[in-house]
Amino acid sequence: MPVIKASSLRDLKLRVNIHDVVARTVALKKAGGNRFKGLCPFHAEKTPSFHVSTDKGFYKCFGCGKAGDILTFVMETEGLQFTEAAETLAKRFGVELEFEAGSGGPTREERSLRQEIFDIHDLAADFYRQAFLAATTHGAWIRDYWVKNRKFTLELADEFKIGFAPVEDRALADALIKKHFTDDALRQCGLFFVRDGAAITAATLRPRFRGRLMIPIRDHQNRVVAFTARQLELTPQDDPAREAKYVNSPETPIFTKSNLLFNLDRARSHATDGHPFVLVEGQLDALRCWSVGLKTAIAPQGTSITDGQLLLLRRYHPQVECFFDSDSAGQKAALRFLPMALKAGLEVRFLMLAGAEKLDPDLLFLERGLDAYAVVKKQSLGAMEFAVRSLLPNPLTAGAEQKARTAQALFEIVAQAESDVARSGFVSEIAQLLRIPPAALERDFRAVLARQAGAARYAPPTAESSATVAPRISADAHTRGVEEHLLYLCLHHEPLLLAMAAQLPHDWIDTSTLAGRLLDRVLAEAQHNGWPGREHLDQLLETQEEKALAATLLFEPPGDEDLVKFANDGIRALQRRHHEPRLRQIELEIASQGTNGDPHLFSLLKQRAEIIRQLQNPPRLQVAS
Ligand code: ZN
Repeated sequence: MPVIKASSLRDLKLRVNIHDVVARTVALKKAGGNRFKGLCPFHAEKTPSFHVSTDKGFYKCFGCGKAGDILTFVMETEGLQFTEAAETLAKRFGVELEFEAGSGGPTREERSLRQEIFDIHDLAADFYRQAFLAATTHGAWIRDYWVKNRKFTLELADEFKIGFAPVEDRALADALIKKHFTDDALRQCGLFFVRDGAAITAATLRPRFRGRLMIPIRDHQNRVVAFTARQLELTPQDDPAREAKYVNSPETPIFTKSNLLFNLDRARSHATDGHPFVLVEGQLDALRCWSVGLKTAIAPQGTSITDGQLLLLRRYHPQVECFFDSDSAGQKAALRFLPMALKAGLEVRFLMLAGAEKLDPDLLFLERGLDAYAVVKKQSLGAMEFAVRSLLPNPLTAGAEQKARTAQALFEIVAQAESDVARSGFVSEIAQLLRIPPAALERDFRAVLARQAGAARYAPPTAESSATVAPRISADAHTRGVEEHLLYLCLHHEPLLLAMAAQLPHDWIDTSTLAGRLLDRVLAEAQHNGWPGREHLDQLLETQEEKALAATLLFEPPGDEDLVKFANDGIRALQRRHHEPRLRQIELEIASQGTNGDPHLFSLLKQRAEIIRQLQNPPRLQVAS
């Protein structure tokens, strides 16, 4: 796939006015300054809440939250991939694009660490692919395994760039070292084990994957970001993970397991009304579905499914069919998936095969092709039917107490659903399935909700809510969260960003939130690669949510407040959130210690004094003016 030069993309964005791009689809009216507004093309509305800022090159809908730049606008409204969108815009506005040549890519200095790791994965995917195709004994063996054992075609292997990691080989390390990647990139790319402190050479880079079938994992932009490696007879005995059937790449600067679904890059353009996503357990199941023509199959990354993955899915299409193995592990996973799916606002059904001994999607489609899909679809169960069947297989013969217990368990699941309408629909469905009078069930469900609401109100303060006792940062600082506020300040004031990158300890940032992750990434980029300027922010934004967040923050320029003071207040809040739990724990231990003079007590007092000293002397940013 051709890669457009970063400088060329920059040029495109500078030369094309976002007003002209959006105005083809949306009737825009002037809204003061460099802003325009119109009716949002992404959600139905009667009063305009879709804003376009021509000086920043961003759009943002205050109704549905969609936001982005000229490229995302064309991608979303015209259903194009990134490169296609860029090419379309270039053609439409008469701008010439420049592409990376095979050899003369950007110089080493121009590449960020993340870009280097993307490049390494590209090269590695080619390397494994060549080993799969090689005219060697092992090459012949792996192709034979793919066709005879896995029963896939070589065309499919080609389409998904299936590869083979050689058993004993330094060739990949050699090739990468010749390409002059930085030590940092080679150390952090996840393809090698490197001893701590060892210098990087072809000899110290020990391949993580040896003698395994290699399945490239792509992100939503179709870039290879990781691999899943399947064990083979050829997997050597001294592989530290010899017994693991599947080994995945570790998390790296370009790969977060919980944000990725296998095959989503392709499946998303096939998912439409009547063609829901089909969630299967493994990558090979998803490949089987694809090979018989079921193109909407996706799989999690080896680990169990996360909320983040489901929200990602929801963005593309709200309907999902869950198709897990009929063994007990598969069914348990399906039941765990259900409340998460409801919480994400997904409409979910469970594909079933009545009377089957054991149902395995891979085997079923292999034996019966796409026809089998119609059969399992016909026998599929809705969310509540599935839940009732799992929890109480024989509702007709069950006693009243058993039914009441089941209802309680179902309430926990239903309470996760995002809308009231959905919830009451589920409750009346449960009444029918369990043959309980609906009014009584509805009453019990209200009681559960009321109890949950009460529990939430009186919940002890968590790390999150303790941020609210921190110094007041600004009116919206705590609805926003400290990380988001700091990110906002960083994006509007570069000297602050540089000061924070140098002085804010990385482990104070809560990276479980979107803003936290982005703040962490922006600061790390500034610290390790030098901040390239806000106009390059794009390169750091990986998901639509991140783009939306950045656009929202960029849309609200700060007034003439004292930004440095706000930043220091925010940092102080992070520091307290980081230290206070430990301080409380120490205080408790001190209180429960008996005698004076105990060496442990002495050490606790010392630790307490040190934390208090740090809290009394919070970091003050040294901001260049
Ligand atoms: Zn909207």
